[in-house]
Amino acid sequence: MEKQQVLINGERLKETLEEFANFGRTDNNGVTRLSLSEVDLKARRHFQKCCEELGMSVAYDDMGNMYAVLSGQDDSLSPVVIGSHLDSVTKGGRFDGVLGVAAGLEAVRSIVDHDVKPKRPIVVVNFTNEEGARFEPSMMSSGVLSGKFDKEAMLQSTDSEGVPFEKALHESGFMGSEENRLKEAKAFLELHIEQGPILENESLKIGVVECVVGMACYEIEVSGESDHAGTTPMSMRKDALFAANDLIMDIRSKLNELPDDLVYTIGRMEVSPNIHTVIPNKAVFTLEARHQDMDIIKEVEHIAQSLEKSSGECQVNVRKLWGRETVWFEEKVVNQLEASADTLGYSYKKMVSGAGHDAQFIASYLPAAMVFVPSINGKSHSEDELTPWEDCEKGVNVILESALSLAND
Ligand SMILES: [Zn+2]
Repeated sequence: MEKQQVLINGERLKETLEEFANFGRTDNNGVTRLSLSEVDLKARRHFQKCCEELGMSVAYDDMGNMYAVLSGQDDSLSPVVIGSHLDSVTKGGRFDGVLGVAAGLEAVRSIVDHDVKPKRPIVVVNFTNEEGARFEPSMMSSGVLSGKFDKEAMLQSTDSEGVPFEKALHESGFMGSEENRLKEAKAFLELHIEQGPILENESLKIGVVECVVGMACYEIEVSGESDHAGTTPMSMRKDALFAANDLIMDIRSKLNELPDDLVYTIGRMEVSPNIHTVIPNKAVFTLEARHQDMDIIKEVEHIAQSLEKSSGECQVNVRKLWGRETVWFEEKVVNQLEASADTLGYSYKKMVSGAGHDAQFIASYLPAAMVFVPSINGKSHSEDELTPWEDCEKGVNVILESALSLAND
């Protein structure tokens, strides 16, 4: 028997995304929807209403994560789970996060429209506080689910007004029980905008994400001596900023010899005393690098650590701030997403994610993978964030096609 090809309703998806963008829309057509803020609560209630209208039941867990369940033929089977997050950063875009939740909603609407009943239940999830823009850290709730973060510590996290996450969650009406946590799944699928320029640059519509890259972050402190900028001859100076500059040139020439898909950033620098008439006595900067191959990250670490030896007139101290291993997504799920993109005739490539997502934590205990759609000019976490509606539609079609295959397996 020919398998029935079920496609989503692109126009309805667009309307859904526009509806959600109304919750916290900014003057420049972006979105400010901080986690558990008034507009986030409105978006959550809207999501719940939409799901209930489809006959789904909605439950919350003890982190306020929302799960909307569409019954399958056999609800004792583990579900296929689709989702992401509804919260945004301040002056963020209309696509980051919400696209992954809207994908689940539109997939279920299309399933209901076509009157197909998959074997397994389908769950659409909204993870609380992915951005960490109001309560640190980011990916807070998927972090608790996967055991990466301690729940009690998370509950104590406060926003800039001193409101603890626990209080905000309690007052939100979305605090549920631990029993409802996401425990099992045939697969977890997250559709997200790429947040980078690669797909657009290569004129591709779909990114099948194989991993979230590992990274390491170092702080390098260069210590010299402050003296008068007018009276101290150049040969008698211990200028910490010039020494830091030499180190940065050295770092760049060494890192540029590593594979060209290594990305590295010197994103923060502090100069002391930062006065134009005084020779700097201290320059502190960070070096952060990301790559999927942890051996490459190890080489970066070696380069960073060896900076201490190359001190010259100034003293150099190197300290590792943090790091994380590459998270590889489940091969079977990745293959399914690739097969779906193929079936649908969409141009795609396998790629890595340089940014963190809920799926990377969920992947530590459930089979998970992600789909990317293009970000125009690579813009994200900005009001300029844009993904063409047709590309959103293609991304959701890949999610739906994969979800149906997995839900009937
Ligand atoms: Zn996101």
